[in-house]
Amino acid sequence: MIYLDNAATTRTVPEVVDAMLPYFTEYYGNAGGIYGLGNKSKKAVIDAKETIAATLGAEPNEIYFTAGGTESDNWAIKAVYEAYRDKGKHIITSKIEHHAVLHTCEYLSKQGAEVTYLDADADGVIDLEQLKKAIRPDTILISVMYANNEIGTIQPVREIGAIAAEQGILFHTDAVQAYGQLPIDVAECHIDMLSASGHKFNGPKGVGFLYISKKAKAHSLIHGGQQERGRRAGTENIPGIVGLEAAVKRAYRVMEEKTGREKELRDYLISQIEQEISGARLNGHRTKRLPGNVNFSFESVESESALIMLDMQGICASGGSACTTGSIDPSHVLLAIGASPETARGALRMTLSEENTKEEMDIVVEELKRIVGKIREMRGI
Ligand SMILES: *Cc1c(COP(=O)(O)O)cnc(C)c1O
Repeated sequence: MIYLDNAATTRTVPEVVDAMLPYFTEYYGNAGGIYGLGNKSKKAVIDAKETIAATLGAEPNEIYFTAGGTESDNWAIKAVYEAYRDKGKHIITSKIEHHAVLHTCEYLSKQGAEVTYLDADADGVIDLEQLKKAIRPDTILISVMYANNEIGTIQPVREIGAIAAEQGILFHTDAVQAYGQLPIDVAECHIDMLSASGHKFNGPKGVGFLYISKKAKAHSLIHGGQQERGRRAGTENIPGIVGLEAAVKRAYRVMEEKTGREKELRDYLISQIEQEISGARLNGHRTKRLPGNVNFSFESVESESALIMLDMQGICASGGSACTTGSIDPSHVLLAIGASPETARGALRMTLSEENTKEEMDIVVEELKRIVGKIREMRGI
């Protein structure tokens, strides 16, 4: 098997699993318990917050654990909308956000929010001038992703943050694809809220965090007990939080080497595809791009058939995003950057990890070349 779908999810690495295991069977106490076993769990939560806060230049009490990227995005946007209603109801986001952001904004629109969706250029970069013009006196939130999950384009986050800060508007960034891959400093980028998810950087699934700056007001999304300083109720997912912390530690320890290797493989795969396969078009920015992201559209080729044929050869890739695969809708991201519906339907995403090899890239190019040729032949092209 050649696994090229690391933007959808990654392998939980053994050191993460090892860190988690004792918290299922040995240290199973409720963090709210006033006995030793509970304190052990409580300490695990505190330690994890310290570890994560240090990576961002934040404070431990600005880190809140969630059930992953989707919850973090929902929480950030809904909580700001509720807490700042007296200031306004205008939210600015972009057309290329993950559905966790887009569908939350659509939901809030039905509750009375007004949402501006920024365009992205052909490379997938949002327009800063358009952002400045979109700001109104009643704008309460700018939510723009750090890096795109489909085409890998990295946004000018520092500039967006500076604009938001200058206008006194909160800035949330969905950093689910970026955190653990790229160094992030929340103060430097004026980020008030940041979403991240463990399973995108070799941690467990179903656990993530939301950074909420102490300057930001944010209501609770999940009501119940007093966990997470009353802002996110529910018994803490201790094994998950311990696994998340272990994944963070590892990600930062190996970041340079891992992303260096991924970039090398990425650029090799891109150049080989462009050299070997005619009518191949790279989607996303060539250099301002996530280390492991490769996304191509092949003329006259629908991704669905190509993916099935790749799967038969043991190659796991994806169409747009994992969430849109299986539906025939063309990728909203590709459409937003000006691709035709045909090109958008043909997008093939291959997202690498440091475990991939150059030999695998050669096999992938060879198979892709054969598959693309076969599909075109069947279509009489
Ligand atoms: C995967 C992803 C999410 C959703 O995260 P989950 O932890 O799977 O809920 C949100 N935003 C982006 C950019 C993602 O890549």
